[in-house]
Amino acid sequence: MTKAIDAHIHVQPWNELKPDVRASWVDRRPDAEWLEKVMSDPDELVRYLDRCGVERAVLINYPSPDLMGFTNATNDFVAKYRDAHPGRLIACGGVHPRLVRNAADAKEQMDRLCGGLKLSLIKLHPPHQQFQIDDYQRGNEALRAIYEKAAEYQIPIMIHTGTSIFPGARSRLGDPMPLDDVCLDFPKVTFVLAHLGRPLWAEAAFFLLRRHKNLWADCSGIPPKTLLEYFPRFSELSEKILFGTDWPSPGVRDIAANVSAFRALPLAEDVRESVLYKNAARLFKL
Ligand SMILES: [Zn+2]
Repeated sequence: MTKAIDAHIHVQPWNELKPDVRASWVDRRPDAEWLEKVMSDPDELVRYLDRCGVERAVLINYPSPDLMGFTNATNDFVAKYRDAHPGRLIACGGVHPRLVRNAADAKEQMDRLCGGLKLSLIKLHPPHQQFQIDDYQRGNEALRAIYEKAAEYQIPIMIHTGTSIFPGARSRLGDPMPLDDVCLDFPKVTFVLAHLGRPLWAEAAFFLLRRHKNLWADCSGIPPKTLLEYFPRFSELSEKILFGTDWPSPGVRDIAANVSAFRALPLAEDVRESVLYKNAARLFKL
């Protein structure tokens, strides 16, 4: 059977979660107690990945102190967590483009993430960090610095697209269209459009992915059985879409269930292999 990489799971320092976010998310999951254990024990996660038949997982983190509760410590958390199983876990962190002091501070933080902590991916989350991804056109020099540093280190940047239901999230900022400018203005950076714009912006996501060579995507957060209804021309982009689940986000119960639902889709075998494994292996130079 094809090997699988889950390019989008959230293993985060839950001790930092704001109470209202915890109430709307963690407290509603029937497996909350076990998940708490996973968040602090990489061995527990790897045993779960084994049960799911998943070779590697990308641990998505980003600071969002005012909305989610995660501080910059989330970067140190994910680096340390990965170090327990570097052959199985891929670390993703972030710099907050609105809460850094200035461009020099953003550069310093990127040096630390990419050079020091050796993260493999940088995540930006506009609805949770309350900024627009082309704000460098309106004076946010810190954001420009983040993109320039990503080019220098050749590290991809994942950008959340689509709505978010967490308290205080600004879904308007999940519109992927500003990526059209960003991809043109920073041609040396590979961007990853997370969630294919779900649920409002599938057509925009499809247009952007066809237009820009430096734009990839993950299909996380979309129930696999509805993926082809939502994104009918999925196979045309099979060389640049990564499989991902968004586990354990609200509504995503189990990685194994999503992997087998994806495998069951009427897709050509080479499409399945590329999306489940080969594309991520290429992007992360495994
Ligand atoms: Zn996510």
